[in-house]
Amino acid sequence: MTSYSTFRTSALEGTTTVHGNTHDTISEIQSQKHLNAFLTIAESQALEHAKVSDHQFSNNSPRLIEGMSVALKDNISTRGIRTTCASKMLDDFIPVYDATVVERIKANGGIIIGKTNLDEFAMGSSNENSAYGYVEHPLGQDLVPGGSSGGSTVAVAAGLVHAALGSDTGGSVRQPAALCGVVGFKPTYGRISRYGLIAFASSLDQIGILAQDVETTARLFDAISGHDSHDSTSAPLSPTMSFEKLSSPMPETFTVAVLPESELAGCDEDVLRVYNQCLDILRGVGATIVTLEIPASNAWIPTYYILATAEASSNLARFDGVRYGFRAEQVNEDDDITILTRSQGFGDEVKRRIMLGTYVLSSGHYDAYYRKAQKARRLILNGYNDIFSKADVLFLPTTPTAAFKRGSKTADPVSMYLSDYFTVSANLAGVPAISIPAGKSSGNLPIGMQLQAKNFEDERLLQFAHYFYGLFKERM
Ligand code: GLN
Repeated sequence: MTSYSTFRTSALEGTTTVHGNTHDTISEIQSQKHLNAFLTIAESQALEHAKVSDHQFSNNSPRLIEGMSVALKDNISTRGIRTTCASKMLDDFIPVYDATVVERIKANGGIIIGKTNLDEFAMGSSNENSAYGYVEHPLGQDLVPGGSSGGSTVAVAAGLVHAALGSDTGGSVRQPAALCGVVGFKPTYGRISRYGLIAFASSLDQIGILAQDVETTARLFDAISGHDSHDSTSAPLSPTMSFEKLSSPMPETFTVAVLPESELAGCDEDVLRVYNQCLDILRGVGATIVTLEIPASNAWIPTYYILATAEASSNLARFDGVRYGFRAEQVNEDDDITILTRSQGFGDEVKRRIMLGTYVLSSGHYDAYYRKAQKARRLILNGYNDIFSKADVLFLPTTPTAAFKRGSKTADPVSMYLSDYFTVSANLAGVPAISIPAGKSSGNLPIGMQLQAKNFEDERLLQFAHYFYGLFKERM
């Protein structure tokens, strides 16, 4: 698929139409069904909106993302369109309202193509935890695409849509982006409204963007960012203007922080090689590289998994078989309908998280786990503040390895959790982070590198990412 910028130019010149493109997009999704990236296609709505977009183009008044085809992770509520969270629990759930991001995509001319597969309730790193089956890596080879926004990522990586939204609680936008070779951006916590995003861990959840390039990412970000009175954690700021700022000149000198070498011990050789090559490139353009530490790095993963599961156990209490969603059959009069519903409606990983979360919140363990994790979170945030007082961006790998084989980590949840090593700290601190394609493994699989910046420096982060991606591309 051509990039959104090229498509936009042709639509303006009248050499292509949004309606035609939407039609082709839907046929292509159908012919790529084996990827299992989409759970629902919003065909009639998409075609209807495409006509409006064509009208806007022919009147020479395209809106911010006019005609951009966008896929949405299926934990983002869409009015009148099934929203499942890839769970049996919400198999027939049709929301009565649109998430704020959905309203804004429509208001800015974007075309919502459909809803994408994910790990159930966004819990996972490989997209093997969906009630509707796994998502295939676009390269096949029995590889995982990463998770939990696997469907959205594959929709972009396979060239089915211009962009997609995912959610990133501990890395679920950046991690699959790295494994599939696309851009994955998690903005500062609060920069994009979470209203209508079905909650996993509310203090960590952030809607993020997947696209082939930083330009498209920036355009979509500008269309959906900005304050929302429906979300009490939404930052009181105007929408960003990051697309425009991508082309402003880079500062003459800039400082890139890197972590001490010992932090990279878990990375495989290919990731280390690409990482070092990237640093050489950055040195070559005059960047100052400084080694700085984020404290409590051995606590990143435990802190994340304690807080995320604690919040999940509370957020998922609403799925009780009474109010909406799946309800189990009551066979005997004394069957507890809530227990039956939750036992049958949730998959194994979700149950594991609920049990873990309930445990760390229980009165006997609260101080030892939950309270301690909150303290560690504060230390991590302080560490980030220190880094960004000395450097413009932090540069680090996105994942310790390239895409791994399906089934290779499912028997050992801890090894799966460790694949989030480099992503969770940004969610704990709330800072913006982006994964960009940076090279290939010896087996020719994509490898991504990550940039993180100070809270609310999203626009600057995108500008750096755009520049770095340009530099790395020449070598890829
Ligand atoms: N892989 C992490 C987890 O399973 C992150 C998930 C996410 O960001 N939604 O919790």
